[in-house]
Amino acid sequence: MTAEPLFIFDLDNTLYPPEVTLWRIVDARIERYVREKLGVDHDTARHVRKSFLSEFGTTLRGLMHHHGVSPGEYLEFVHDVPIPEIVPPRPELRRMLSGLPGRRVVFTNGSESYARRVLEALGVSDLMEGIYGIEFMEYIAKPSPYPYAKLLRVTGATPSASLFCEDIRENLLPARELGMFTVWVGGREESSPAHAVVSDVCDLPGVLHRFLEPNF
Ligand SMILES: [Mg+2]
Repeated sequence: MTAEPLFIFDLDNTLYPPEVTLWRIVDARIERYVREKLGVDHDTARHVRKSFLSEFGTTLRGLMHHHGVSPGEYLEFVHDVPIPEIVPPRPELRRMLSGLPGRRVVFTNGSESYARRVLEALGVSDLMEGIYGIEFMEYIAKPSPYPYAKLLRVTGATPSASLFCEDIRENLLPARELGMFTVWVGGREESSPAHAVVSDVCDLPGVLHRFLEPNF
């Protein structure tokens, strides 16, 4: 490998495990936002979110399109969570990230300020060269191919020298399509579309040789 490797990390349920309930709390706030904004009950809100997700990829984009919701107001509401009380520091993540031979960035469908607060709680914010959140994506979230191509352009990274860690299966597909090395965090070996599967992101070093020395 000649180009400097770029290590790209999703945030929620990737840099911290699902046992940390942060994402569930954010998800419940998204539902509450939909209920209050549209004046609907729990079941209707669930149905609306499902149809927005399949039509637009995110609840936010559906709300922007059909209800003129301002993304800033929405993101502030759904990410208004006491993160340091929920997310403990992860020294093992810090050790793992520090040992990676290349640049590290975060690529998340959450807002940039939310991602920054989560990284601070985990104790790894100084180890990330950049945070590419939903504002950077112009609200066209993963797994839409657009933000992946933009990320490569802006970081100047070569796809074959880029590694992407993510917990949502669908979000791995565009990265693989572009030629990145993909790692499914918490995924299943049998149905994996990724090059490698790890149960926790801290296990990444165990599969790194397949990325760094593909012909070995
Ligand atoms: Mg995630």
